[in-house]
Amino acid sequence: MAGFSIAGSVYEGAVGDLIDELGQLPGVGPKSAQRIAFHLLSADPADVQRLAAVLLRVKESVRFCSICGNVTEAEQCRICRDPRRDAAVICVVEEPKDVVAIEKTHEFHGRYHVLGGAISPIEGVGPDDLRLRELMTRLADGAVTELIIATDPNLEGEATATYLARLIKPMGLRVTRLASGLPVGGDLEYADEVTLGRAFEGLRLLDA
Ligand SMILES: [Zn+2]
Repeated sequence: MAGFSIAGSVYEGAVGDLIDELGQLPGVGPKSAQRIAFHLLSADPADVQRLAAVLLRVKESVRFCSICGNVTEAEQCRICRDPRRDAAVICVVEEPKDVVAIEKTHEFHGRYHVLGGAISPIEGVGPDDLRLRELMTRLADGAVTELIIATDPNLEGEATATYLARLIKPMGLRVTRLASGLPVGGDLEYADEVTLGRAFEGLRLLDA
């Protein structure tokens, strides 16, 4: 539905612009964009101001952790700063939202590495577009002994896992894949906590 606009002939000016902008957001179709726009129009000005302020603040103050690539407001994220987290195990995920999904299970006590996507020839995403160099740097000193690859259980996620396993193999680490029980073709964030938690018990050794 990209580029589809219901503003043109029906709504003009600011309302039309707002509907257009909202319609660009993921998961927001033209009808939802219209509903949100009119909700905002009739909302308390103070509420709308708070929303506008938080939108600006998130762009100004939130950045990516210099170690793992997770979202953070400090130089390093909460997990990387936590000395109780096991520094010997790194769980590799595609996006920061996957960190949240795994944290909810309370099954993982190591650290993370956020790749910033997955290998996808169709979308023109190659290994160089992911935070792989940063990962190799983290593995260089030998403190990390295990890598759990928790990319999404779909085509791109599998391709990324295979690529990563081959890349890591010469370093002699234990490399496992978080997959068992997860719905194939899905998105990690949509797996429920129990299923995702169980997937940590059934880690599969990757033999690249
Ligand atoms: Zn971090």
